Amino acid sequence: MTHDLILSGGHVIDPANARDGVMDVAVKDGRVVAVGADVAGQAAKTVAVDGLYVTPGLIDIHVHVYGYAGSMFPDAHALTGGITTVVDAGGPGWKSFEDFKTTIVDRSKTRVLSLLNIVAPGMLGAVEQDIGEMQTEACADMIRAHPEIIVGTKTAHFGGPGWEAVDGALRAADLSDTVAMIDFWPRPTRTYPELLARMRPGDIHTHVYARHIPVLDDNKRVQDCMWEARERGVVFDLGHGAGSFWWRLAIPSTRQGFPPDTISTDLHRSSALIPNANMITTMSKCLNMDMPLSEVIRRSTVTPAEVIGRPELGTLTVGAEADIAVLDVRRGAFGFVDSGRARHRGDRRLECMLTVRAGEIVWDVNGMSWPDWEDAGEYAVIQ
Ligand SMILES: [Zn+2]
Repeated sequence: MTHDLILSGGHVIDPANARDGVMDVAVKDGRVVAVGADVAGQAAKTVAVDGLYVTPGLIDIHVHVYGYAGSMFPDAHALTGGITTVVDAGGPGWKSFEDFKTTIVDRSKTRVLSLLNIVAPGMLGAVEQDIGEMQTEACADMIRAHPEIIVGTKTAHFGGPGWEAVDGALRAADLSDTVAMIDFWPRPTRTYPELLARMRPGDIHTHVYARHIPVLDDNKRVQDCMWEARERGVVFDLGHGAGSFWWRLAIPSTRQGFPPDTISTDLHRSSALIPNANMITTMSKCLNMDMPLSEVIRRSTVTPAEVIGRPELGTLTVGAEADIAVLDVRRGAFGFVDSGRARHRGDRRLECMLTVRAGEIVWDVNGMSWPDWEDAGEYAVIQ
């Protein structure tokens, strides 16, 4: 056999390579080996995916898979939704990183990366307010020791009057030549425009459409400081979460030309329920804010890969690890709920039909890749 797997006849959207059309995708030894019309050669398994979209495996750069009661082991919610890479946002700090690696990273099929919390224990215990635990040098040292897993720093939930948490995360990112993800709560002593001025090009402002973020001015126009920060290269991340995505901010911003740079979920046990903050639904929400499908895919694949400094991910480039999502766009009358429990009606909903991780089919909701039982002969477990 020339190939292990061919996904045939799907509509490939691969923004990194400017592919947008009906093509086959061939996989061998865990890697993409050919993409194009009528790929030559035989495959051990060919799956017809006509009428569906074939995209790089999705990348969710804000999840919680470690460190507090709301975190969830990734595979059951990531791979079933086409997500092949997740970035844990601040679960461990440098003191708990080894435990995170042993219990989560090494045990999951999903590729798990980390934004290391500037607070030494991470989210274990209510310590994110403890300035004494913000150890910049030790955080940077751990990042440098694990560049294969750690892609930057994280600060979140800090309620104090000063800049210790933000500046610590930015400094540790600077020392380790990575980026910082900032979850910020404005205070009179540290304002939002001041935050944006502090952030470096490439740093990630998550929860951009949260109620506590002054995206819009009194006239409902996107604030000048946001345009200026975007112009400078600050990254605005959706980071849905239980409380951080509000239609009244997201829709006016997107209509004024200020969509999220990256689509992410902040998925944990409570955000997964009523606001339905999983990746495929969050992408559907963007689609129904009139973001073109190709842009929804771009902001869920190649852009997050670039933002975390992993340009080899989020693409179907020949030679890349074969992380692939097969998606359907259902049409009908749908509704999408935000963190304020308000609904936005829409006519399209994305669904994940099949997921390939490192060349292996790990999710196949309709059994497209398996034979009908009447034709399977005296079968045991079919490969
Ligand atoms: Zn979060």
